[in-house]
Amino acid sequence: MDRIDCIVVGAGVVGLAIARKLAQAGREVIVLESAEDIGTGTSSRNSEVIHAGIYYAAGSLMARMCVDGKKALYDYCADHGVPHKRCGKLIVATTEAESEKLASIKVRAAANGVFDLQPLSGAEACALEPALNCVGALLSPSTGIIDSHAYMLALRGDAESAGAALAFHAPLLRATVTADGIVAEVGGEAPMTMACGLLVNAAGLYAPALARAIDGMPADRIPANYLAKGNYFSCSARAPFSHLIYPVPEPGGLGVHLTLDMAGQARFGPDVEWIEAIDYAVDPSRAERFYPAIRRYWPTLPDNALLPSYSGIRPKIVPPAVAVQDFMIQGPQDHGVTGLINLFGIESPGLTSSLAIADYVGEFAA
Ligand SMILES: Cc1cc2nc3c(=O)[nH]c(=O)nc-3n(C[C@H](O)[C@H](O)[C@H](O)COP(=O)(O)OP(=O)(O)OC[C@H]3O[C@@H](n4cnc5c(N)ncnc54)[C@H](O)[C@@H]3O)c2cc1C
Repeated sequence: MDRIDCIVVGAGVVGLAIARKLAQAGREVIVLESAEDIGTGTSSRNSEVIHAGIYYAAGSLMARMCVDGKKALYDYCADHGVPHKRCGKLIVATTEAESEKLASIKVRAAANGVFDLQPLSGAEACALEPALNCVGALLSPSTGIIDSHAYMLALRGDAESAGAALAFHAPLLRATVTADGIVAEVGGEAPMTMACGLLVNAAGLYAPALARAIDGMPADRIPANYLAKGNYFSCSARAPFSHLIYPVPEPGGLGVHLTLDMAGQARFGPDVEWIEAIDYAVDPSRAERFYPAIRRYWPTLPDNALLPSYSGIRPKIVPPAVAVQDFMIQGPQDHGVTGLINLFGIESPGLTSSLAIADYVGEFAA
């Protein structure tokens, strides 16, 4: 049987960042990806926002990794020529009641080490964005956008340059924990069995299912999985904004916000739709909920301007009634299995946090 030092399952942004980290530390790495290419899962179905780290619970992995990851990501983009833009974001209050919440958002951000939020009056915000309707806002200057595919290509290039191999159409079907390492059974076009000293489960939406397919992984350490789809609509009209525009968050989500891609095209979403099975189709009728939400901060959004675009699915590990979850990154000290690292619930801000997640996993794996 072939033997390799490290197997990373999943060539999304997180698996690629981990593979790069391990390979650059001198480890022998193979990335198994069931799809035909890198980044075909959640990593290409998101808002491509470099988040500042504002909303997460102080001390949580999300808070720490978003703030550390943001800095690392801006540096990485600059070093590697990855297209990105520090465009800034406005969190806008459209009522006095919402306005009062802005102060607590600023306090929470500071607890996470985000000290650059600037309170703006409605007039000051409208001076920046004349099409906006709001009574007050917070400006987050360190929020930005990134070409996520270019970023993943750069990670892949780094990983391969450091000796990592990527195998596509190579699903990890199951694995067995033995005294001699973890034995992995790979399906697809070239089925094989190989043993490894380290198995990193970065399978995104499928991470809990994959953990259940590892004989020897304690079932009671595997979280339940829930799927929260986020639908996006594009806009046929020109959206006259240069900042990202977010409403004051609502329970369960950040509200219907406006983000921009690197070409300046606006998109709205994601909303929150709890689903039972993975299905990326966007129901056009959901636009009816988007119009009133968007018109609260952009009153002149034209009728019929919203077009169904794409969706992504958040890998939730808590049910709908629980508003907050954190990343769950398990090593041997959590589940007792030598050489196994599981990454569960890597939803937003997983893209922003990817380099920090890789550092964390790299320390576990050292
Ligand atoms: C709607 C939405 C919006 C978001 N917006 C943002 C944002 O603006 N900013 C931000 O920072 N984050 C954002 N995120 C979060 C970010 O997109 C994710 O955290 C990140 O993409 C997760 O990457 P991943 O590598 O863990 O998962 P994925 O990209 O899903 O990769 C997992 C890979 O594993 C592969 N795989 C699965 N099972 C197997 C198997 N058994 N064998 C081999 N391969 C397997 C899959 O094919 C897939 O390619 C958003 C997420 C969603 C859902």
